[in-house]
Parts: sequence; structure tokens; C-alpha cells
Amino acid sequence: MEFDYDPSNVFARILSGEIPSRTVFENETALAFHDVRPQAPVHILVIPKGPYVSIDHFAAEATAVEQAGFMAALAEVCRMPELEPGFRCIANTRETGGQEVPHFHVHVLGGAPLGPMLS
Ligand code: C5P
Repeated sequence: MEFDYDPSNVFARILSGEIPSRTVFENETALAFHDVRPQAPVHILVIPKGPYVSIDHFAAEATAVEQAGFMAALAEVCRMPELEPGFRCIANTRETGGQEVPHFHVHVLGGAPLGPMLS
């Protein structure tokens, strides 16, 4: 599959510092920040710093260092005490999958009972 990254997307602009975000965690290859329109008491987005459109793009083309850095950032977020006793991770993928921002991101939601995913 061909992946076409749009460098003007809002998360690219967050990464460049053009748009502010509330950072939760950052390492060399990934950034985690609070979602501006939280859908749960805790709603964090974890994104790679590299130009990847989606989870399948990231899985296919990110380097091992980028993938390890992303997983380390995700693990760091998942350890937040506010997420106990449970939480949900979601990666909406492409328009059909409900993805609005074309830069790979994982939503981490928690802080309250979330109920079944499809309701
Ligand atoms: O998975 P999807 O692409 O729909 O999610 C994008 C998310 O990015 C939304 O939850 C939206 O609130 C968030 N967002 C943000 N900061 C922005 C623009 C969008 O947190 N400046």
C-alpha cells in the first residue's frame, strides 16, 4: 500500500511547536499530550514524531528505534495512576475507521468506567 503523508496536518504542527499542546510525556521519537476535546476524564494521544499517516503505515515503514520509542511512550502513559483500574487504547485508521487527523495516533482513555466499546 502507498501511504501519503500530509505535512500540514494539525499533529505535524503540534510537533513543530506551531500549535501548543499539553505534553504528558516525550522521548526522542514520540510525544504524548492531552486531547483538546476529551471523551473521558483522562484522554491522552500518543503520536510518533516521524511522518506516518496511520498504524499500518507506522508498522510497515517506521524504524525499530521509532517503534521502540513509540511503545515506550505508550507504556509510560499506560502507567499513569489516573488510568487505574482500567483504560482503553484506540487507533482510528483512515476515514472509514473514524480517523480525522492523518498522523498516526493512539488514544488512551480512562479515569471512569468506559462500558462496552461498541454500543
Ligand atoms: O482518531 P481521530 O483522528 O478522530 O482523533 C483526532 C483527535 O485529535 C480528536 O480526539 C481531537 O479532539 C484531537 N485533537 C487535539 N488537538 C488538536 C486537534 C485535534 O487533541 N489541535
